Amino acid sequence: MSLQPSGYEFTLLLSFDFDSESAEVWKGSDPVAISRGRYGARVGIWRVLELLDKYGLRVTFFVPGWVAENYPRIIADITNRGHEIAGHGYMHERFDELPPGEELRVIELMERYIQNAVGSRPLGFRAPYWRFSPRTLSILASRGYVYDSSLMDSDDPYTIRLDDNIIVELPVDWRLDDWPLLEIERLTPREVLGMWFEEIEYAHKRKGYLSLTFHPQCIGRGARIKVLEEVIKEALRRKAWIPRAIDVARKLYS
Ligand SMILES: [Zn+2]
Repeated sequence: MSLQPSGYEFTLLLSFDFDSESAEVWKGSDPVAISRGRYGARVGIWRVLELLDKYGLRVTFFVPGWVAENYPRIIADITNRGHEIAGHGYMHERFDELPPGEELRVIELMERYIQNAVGSRPLGFRAPYWRFSPRTLSILASRGYVYDSSLMDSDDPYTIRLDDNIIVELPVDWRLDDWPLLEIERLTPREVLGMWFEEIEYAHKRKGYLSLTFHPQCIGRGARIKVLEEVIKEALRRKAWIPRAIDVARKLYS
């Protein structure tokens, strides 16, 4: 089944993990490392939002509760522009390292601060560092989440049954994420674009689905923002449907 409405030739989930400095604060990093994260809220997010507005795109931002708590006006601004806010932990914790009781507390804190900033609970979740405990999916499904976006066992979205609940999985992959490529592997923007243009071409050819993940503190830094614009232009040239994650999930959820 094709996800995209008629008139479109493939689906591109263009999503943003707006972590800002939450992970560095949680880890107790030094002030310079914290400042590097804070670039996301000070500069990167605005470059990203401006670009999305330029192309009339409405997408999904995965946000730690701590970021919603500390930058509520930015979160409200993102929402007012028509984007979706989904959950991404409270302080960008590693869920695979949290004790069982703590995991639920973290999810509740995440929901509380997103609700305070947006006015409603998140319907979707993405695990920080894409790391889960064996309990995470069941907790999400029992709390009414429509989708998760953390697993890596498919190119295309699918549904998971958990007892009486269904949750949609919007799968991801490390090589389709700006962070490891630009911040860890230190590839050049041109190398990253080369890889991603091939993925866009392949997704277009099979009329399928592609998920690309960006971080405002990474892709919004200096001239790297041009990578995002080139991706958007190439995807639109190939008639991509670029929806919010909830729009994709609703197509599969019943
Ligand atoms: Zn993150």
